[in-house]
Amino acid sequence: MKRAVARDILKNEAKAFRARLLAWYDGHARDLPWRKSRDPYRVWLSEIMLQQTRVAAVIEHYHEFLRRFPSVRKLAAARESSVLAAWSGLGYYRRARMLHEAAKMITRKLDGNFPQSAERWRALPGIGRYSAAAIASIAFGEPVAVVDGNVERVLQRVTGKPLAGAQLWQAAEELLDRSRPGDSNQAMMELGATVCTPRTPTCLMCPVVEVCATRGELAGVAHPSHQKKREIHYALVCRNSRILLVQRPRQASLMAAMWELPRIEPPADHAGPAFTVKHSITTTDYTVGVWNLPPLERTRGEWVSSVRLQYFPLTGLARKILRRAGVLTPVTSNS
Ligand code: SF4
Repeated sequence: MKRAVARDILKNEAKAFRARLLAWYDGHARDLPWRKSRDPYRVWLSEIMLQQTRVAAVIEHYHEFLRRFPSVRKLAAARESSVLAAWSGLGYYRRARMLHEAAKMITRKLDGNFPQSAERWRALPGIGRYSAAAIASIAFGEPVAVVDGNVERVLQRVTGKPLAGAQLWQAAEELLDRSRPGDSNQAMMELGATVCTPRTPTCLMCPVVEVCATRGELAGVAHPSHQKKREIHYALVCRNSRILLVQRPRQASLMAAMWELPRIEPPADHAGPAFTVKHSITTTDYTVGVWNLPPLERTRGEWVSSVRLQYFPLTGLARKILRRAGVLTPVTSNS
């Protein structure tokens, strides 16, 4: 027989946990643009964008993506390069390709109708257990729980156990408020993101402090390892108001087929880079030197005008450098 994980540990306090968490969420949830709608397309888009990406970066891209592709049919009909261009800056570009593939499947095989259950969402490209449950619970009210990094931390601290794997999903199901599953899931994630943070959780502000087993960090749970530091250099080469860009290999494991500035070794005959920017990718913090150089011999690439740059599938770092150099202006949101 399957043993109850959360109920057991919370000693019949699961009901109080749900009520307190939802009351807190109703009064304290951050006002995020994707929370204004239960439209499946918007919920799906936000969930994919939010995977491994900061909320602030997603806000920057969410409106513009919807402006370019306001419906699943428009997204399905778009060229992949346009989708990648709209995704530029969010990283993990495989997500954008999968989103595009799934939009084509929904449009062509399901006649534009979205799946209504987590199980059916999982049949689409790029949709795992977490995303399927998040979309089905938020957009369609299906009572299925989510577990992401934030929920995992909250569950471990509340129960006082280093839960993992199936136990985590089971505990999440037991603590889910089945009358408001979408809000219940979002409340758990919100608590982890804003109160029960990885380091120094603010337990004094926590709505479930009275039923929490640890009221602080759970001993023995490892923190993410420290970031590595690296230095890299790029050439900013202009000719007749055009910028030289090169395309990453189609087989590259990261940012395949995206466009960037030519990568160089720091030139010995220059005093220093024109400017530097900071950039982080997964576990590495980069200091990036950008050098103004004359057109390089033997560099293969494409000369791109500043007007076309806006719609080019640039890597996030290239976009950052070009904005800093003043040749690319930030997209202004229209909502
Ligand atoms: Fe996290 Fe502290 Fe709340 Fe427990 S009391 S859930 S450790 S913030």
